Amino acid sequence: MKKQIDVQLKNVQKRFQNQVVVKNFDLEIEQGEFISLLGPSGCGKTTTLNMIAGFLDPDEGELLIKGKRMNGVPPYKRELGMVFQTYSLFPHMTVGENIGYGLKLRKVSKQEQAERIQKVLELVKLPHVADRYPKQLSGGQRQRIAIARALIVEPSLLLLDEPLSNLDAKLREELRDELKRLHQEIGVTTIFVTHDQEEALSLSDRIVVMNYGNIEQIGTPYEIYNQPKSEFVHTFIGKTNRLPGVVSSIDNMHVHVRTENGLMIKATQSTGNWTVGQSVTAFIRPEKIKLTTQSEKDTSDNSVNGTLDIASFLGAFTECKVSVGSTLLDVRMQEKVWTGNGQDGETVTCSWSAEDVFLMAEGGK
Ligand code: ATP
Repeated sequence: MKKQIDVQLKNVQKRFQNQVVVKNFDLEIEQGEFISLLGPSGCGKTTTLNMIAGFLDPDEGELLIKGKRMNGVPPYKRELGMVFQTYSLFPHMTVGENIGYGLKLRKVSKQEQAERIQKVLELVKLPHVADRYPKQLSGGQRQRIAIARALIVEPSLLLLDEPLSNLDAKLREELRDELKRLHQEIGVTTIFVTHDQEEALSLSDRIVVMNYGNIEQIGTPYEIYNQPKSEFVHTFIGKTNRLPGVVSSIDNMHVHVRTENGLMIKATQSTGNWTVGQSVTAFIRPEKIKLTTQSEKDTSDNSVNGTLDIASFLGAFTECKVSVGSTLLDVRMQEKVWTGNGQDGETVTCSWSAEDVFLMAEGGK
């Protein structure tokens, strides 16, 4: 059964001083979905979120929340919860007063306020801080309180504008997991703005990748990572090796590409319609390349010898740069897979499957 559509943007456009910053934006968000708007700085993510929140009105197009047209409707009539980058808690109010503020405005009784404050504090795993002031909390705790404040009014839509970006790396990860747990527990439809690929991949049901106000692709994290529709999506969403070249031959199994630097690469045939002589770019993610010593036997579709230039140990994996003729390949090597001694200048073999080569025609599609 198809789920209810909570948010609909139909051909929405926004201009600032004649510059179109959000273009022909079409999106339907199902009830309970966690959607991320992902893209580089200035691509229009916050502008889109602010139109959904009601802080900005679209110049063209239509915005519907739960089937009702929202163009021109002020934010306080949209039943939203919103969390910003900066916690924006009132410093002179206790945590409890901060969280309960929305209920006070709605004239909820004092007893009900107290009960709901305690419940939501338990939800964000801070049941004991109601009487503290924001300055007596850590950054991560303050952001949890900002989330609690957004949730207490039981919004039909939760909007999060880079809520983790002011936190250090470890806290970010902790709060990311916390957000995931909260979403699974309460199931509120959520729109999350971020320029952090990992955050979007780990949290979202679907990701909307934006670039210069355009939607580049909408898909599940798996689709966005493994089946990108454009060079922009492929390169923005993770590290990759970019190898421009020309299709030199095609057989039943593979498209053979000769790169500008003279490497011969096999890609799976099923990836598109290719013709001999066509200019293409082959992309291979660093983690898809296996690094072995030359003495090991290798039966991969693609296998080239090179020299290990740099190996940087980063804990869970080692990032390597391997020179293959005049091509420099980035390789991400998981610990223990490697059997060599990992010394700079060592002769190595890089191998990868034809299925892991992502081919794109010139022009990016
Ligand atoms: P960031 O990740 O840096 O927050 P973003 O993707 O959220 O970026 P927006 O804040 O939506 O991007 O901005 C999109 C474009 O619109 C940018 O070029 C920005 O300079 C411009 N812009 C945003 N707000 C205004 C405004 N009030 N007046 C004029 N231009 C604006």
